[in-house]
Amino acid sequence: MNYEILLKENHLKVTPQRLGILHLMHEAGHISIEDLFTSIKKQFSSISLATLYKNIHAMLESSLIKEVKAPEAKARYEISKAPHAHLVCSECGEFKDIMYDVNHLAHSIADDNGYAINDTSLIISGTCPKCK
Ligand SMILES: [Zn+2]
Ligand SMILES: [Zn+2]
Repeated sequence: MNYEILLKENHLKVTPQRLGILHLMHEAGHISIEDLFTSIKKQFSSISLATLYKNIHAMLESSLIKEVKAPEAKARYEISKAPHAHLVCSECGEFKDIMYDVNHLAHSIADDNGYAINDTSLIISGTCPKCK
């Protein structure tokens, strides 16, 4: 994945910090702000939490990344990709991508109720095979 092109495509300035953030996010799949901060500090020791938040915010605004919220777990961030659902383990906190597009279901429910959709997400929480 070329993060520089990704940033440019999303009309964002390319900075070493942003390249580092995207690299860590890609490696982790889904990462919390705390874990991201711990890892990014190893590369850019002077980066502050406020700067990290500002970068995350800019990348969220342009939809380059997405926030994934699950009950009983801290919000995670991931690089935007094809629509998918998530399985979340409430024991170990694993986030797993399920390549299932919920948009069809969401649209039919929204249409039936006269809603315009802002956002759609499907999170299934439970216990993963390792923790069971
Ligand atoms: Zn687990
Ligand atoms: Zn995901």
